[in-house]
Amino acid sequence: MSTNLETSVAYLKGVGPKRAELLQAELGISTYFDLIQHLPFRYEDRSVFYKISDITAESSALQFKGKITKKTLIGGGKQSRLVAVFNDGENELELVWFKGAKWIINSLPINIEVIIYGKPSRFGKKWNVPHPEVERADLYEKRRGGGLQPVYSSTEKLGARGLSSSGLARLIRGAWEEVKGGVDETLPSNLLTELRLPGRSDAFEQVHRPDNPLMADKALKRLKFEELLYLQLVLLRHKKATTVDLPGVRFEKVGDKFNEFFEKHLPFELTGAQKRVIKEIRGDVNTGRHMNRLLQGDVGSGKTIVALMTSLLAIDNGFQACIMAPTEILARQHAEGISDLLREMDVRVEIITGSTKKSDRKPILEGLADGRVDLIIGTHSLIEPTVVFKNLGFVVIDEQHRFGVAQRSKLWAKAKLAPHVLVMTATPIPRTLAMTAYGDLDISVLDELPPGRKDIVTAHRTDASRLSVFSFVEKQISEGRQVYFVYPLIEESATIDHKDLMDGYESISRRFPLPKYRIGIVHGRMKPADKNIEMSRFVSGESQILVATTVIEVGVNVPNATLMVIESAERFGLSQLHQLRGRVGRGGEQSYCILMTKDEFSKEARRRLETMCRTNDGFEIAEVDMEIRGPGDIMGTQQSGLPDLKMADIQRDKDLMITARYMAQRVLEVDAELEKAEHSTLKINLDRILKDRPNWSQIS
Ligand code: ADP
Ligand code: MG
Repeated sequence: MSTNLETSVAYLKGVGPKRAELLQAELGISTYFDLIQHLPFRYEDRSVFYKISDITAESSALQFKGKITKKTLIGGGKQSRLVAVFNDGENELELVWFKGAKWIINSLPINIEVIIYGKPSRFGKKWNVPHPEVERADLYEKRRGGGLQPVYSSTEKLGARGLSSSGLARLIRGAWEEVKGGVDETLPSNLLTELRLPGRSDAFEQVHRPDNPLMADKALKRLKFEELLYLQLVLLRHKKATTVDLPGVRFEKVGDKFNEFFEKHLPFELTGAQKRVIKEIRGDVNTGRHMNRLLQGDVGSGKTIVALMTSLLAIDNGFQACIMAPTEILARQHAEGISDLLREMDVRVEIITGSTKKSDRKPILEGLADGRVDLIIGTHSLIEPTVVFKNLGFVVIDEQHRFGVAQRSKLWAKAKLAPHVLVMTATPIPRTLAMTAYGDLDISVLDELPPGRKDIVTAHRTDASRLSVFSFVEKQISEGRQVYFVYPLIEESATIDHKDLMDGYESISRRFPLPKYRIGIVHGRMKPADKNIEMSRFVSGESQILVATTVIEVGVNVPNATLMVIESAERFGLSQLHQLRGRVGRGGEQSYCILMTKDEFSKEARRRLETMCRTNDGFEIAEVDMEIRGPGDIMGTQQSGLPDLKMADIQRDKDLMITARYMAQRVLEVDAELEKAEHSTLKINLDRILKDRPNWSQIS
């Protein structure tokens, strides 16, 4: 059998069925191609040999040449430990293994020249090297190029089967030797010349066995760029197919309702950003193309009004509009706020949620079907098949990250022509992430807060300061303001969390007793009706304090609330903290956020708290969040919408992604269908990728 890129790794020397299974499970590697696409994440300079006498307290991993003179297995069972004596001709040190001792002892050659590599640590007065890499010097010399050694990511399970970085290196080299004759070029030569990148075959060669750091760098860049370029080609073509090429309903005129609202009922002047975004949207919706737009705007930036005014535009042109919110509370608040704004206008607004009674639901459904309802606001309930529109022209999806792609498309299916879609999110997404996860959407940004907002002052306090925190709460209330206390409620520890919430509620109630104070509470275990009562009491100012779990995270708008105390803040994620904090600072008053924690917490938690205290800028916070959690977690795992990148990394390769996006745009601008001769390589490979990577063709 002849080997090619698609051959299973099980056929590779040194793999076999067991290891093949493990490679698949741990790293998603199943073919030769997967294996050679497993790129090193760094290189170690192994050109220098040190002497044991060179070791200092500051030494990082070092390389020595010498002989192992003795090896001893100490202890038995799980506790066993392997100790070997290494001699570099002048001095001795000990090599120690705490794991895999029995397995390793057999592979350690005695009195034969070896190369060892590892980070020395001090043990009493002597140095030892825990878990060093050991290789026979003759084998080492045979394969070493310029002394630059690739380091591959591996896992504990693979390591236990001899496939840590160096084991993987051996496999990858073996695989590459077999297939290197059959690797085609996938980038047009003019692009390679322009970007000064090596050819594909050279790149694979250099990335796994570099001549020098510069070549390694270029090789890595080339391979990652190739992957990102094709990804961007897929996304941009998909974007074109769902916008420019897809006929959309046409909102030709700016009609009476839009104008009446703008002139008579808009309670404030639009910010420059709001005006710009409404203009961008109008540019989409009156052309006959289909709008598929992401609106990013930090909490409080005023996205709702943009959604409302666009809805009026739809209604003016004889269409219905729909706003879908992720939670009942938020849907209700949208419905109330919008109905209030439109109360003097002839626009019929209705709401449907999970708790809408059957008898109430019926006339609303009829109104949607016969066109009497102009604007419907709701939750997931809007997706149900019983909801039928006469003429749906515009769909708003608020807080998009909570909805899956499938749900979005179900709403679409309710119209004859694809309705325009505006996806709104208050979770700022780092630019490169937006470029991949939402790479097929047009993006608008509300980067300006309404005037008069002051930055929220944020401070971190531990339980020791609770009394003074309570005094501050008292002071805010005495000035007529309202206060949130937020408690974590995590599924896994729901019972304990619930108790904490209730204990907290009690101690706050003792400190702020009736009749002077009224305290509300909302949490997930309450009936929706009770939740709504408590919420509306707080909204109307009847209660001064609201004790809540994160159900208030999204959207809730009480401008008079100026203080938020977040309990066990160390347990919240960064973007969640930012979302929560956005519930205050929504009026003209100076607002505050106090992050309460225990005395001790993790390093990551410290970084989150520091970031919160330092900045109010959602985009800056999003960048830190992505550094801490990685892109996959930010998007949410099950419906992340992220493509499976094998070589490039959305976070580390930001600049390359931007270059790739630019290059893809440039190519498609002159040759949208990739029909020109100089783009034939791109076309062939794009078709192949779309066939092999269904995940890439479904991103949206
Ligand atoms: P978000 O973007 O977080 O959804 P909202 O749309 O809820 O923000 O707006 C937050 C608050 O700011 C609301 O009370 C809204 O009425 C108010 N608001 C929105 N735009 C403006 C503006 N241009 N000037 C003043 N207040 C505004
Ligand atoms: Mg909102």
